[in-house]
Amino acid sequence: MKRYHWVGFLPFYLLTVIMFIGIAMWGSTATTTIAQNRPVERENIIVIDAGHGGIDGGATSCGGVLESKLNLDIALRLEAVMQLLGFDTVMIRTTDTSIYTEGNTIASQKVSDLKERVRIVNETPNALLISIHQNTFPDGRYSGAQVFYGGAEESRGLAQLLQTNFNQTLCKGSNRKSKKADGVYLMQNIDCTGVLLECGFISNPEEEAKLRSEEYQIKLCCVIASTVSTFTQSQNRG
Ligand SMILES: [Zn+2]
Repeated sequence: MKRYHWVGFLPFYLLTVIMFIGIAMWGSTATTTIAQNRPVERENIIVIDAGHGGIDGGATSCGGVLESKLNLDIALRLEAVMQLLGFDTVMIRTTDTSIYTEGNTIASQKVSDLKERVRIVNETPNALLISIHQNTFPDGRYSGAQVFYGGAEESRGLAQLLQTNFNQTLCKGSNRKSKKADGVYLMQNIDCTGVLLECGFISNPEEEAKLRSEEYQIKLCCVIASTVSTFTQSQNRG
């Protein structure tokens, strides 16, 4: 009986093994195919910086949400979209944390955090930085994304293209212009192409509601990712 029992289970056992092998093979084939069908060889590594985090929440939205949370939500979505387009990515942070390595006071920890961000960007080969932030203003009327650029020559071109694409898609009617990121430590100290995106005004109730929504965050990331893709392709063609 015991033997019969075992034999009786054999086909099921074999079927399970075959299914597992099949799923594993399908998975690896699918992964290989996607990798082989990458639209182009990507030369840049995209460093995604979710602004603030941990001890530094950044601004607070009119609905009471911390900027650091919105920045992280958007940064994580951007990571997924950039990877889908075949880019390698480096995340400055993936949780609600500050990345300081020294300091006994909040002020000194914030300084250390910014230095760490610069170090990560500058130690990444062929880096292209996208720093995600949210804007705020005492008057709740103001809205629209705005792009700021770092010192490297190409940064300005990327910022202009990104600003144009935002003004023509998600921020229709906006006449905001890209600007140099004067006084922003991270942007002034990176060696590579980099932009800082103020995704919108979290002091504007209508825009804040959009910025909190999954749908709008995904659209934001699609605009950023497609712009970076177009920009890097044109750069790499010389
Ligand atoms: Zn910020």
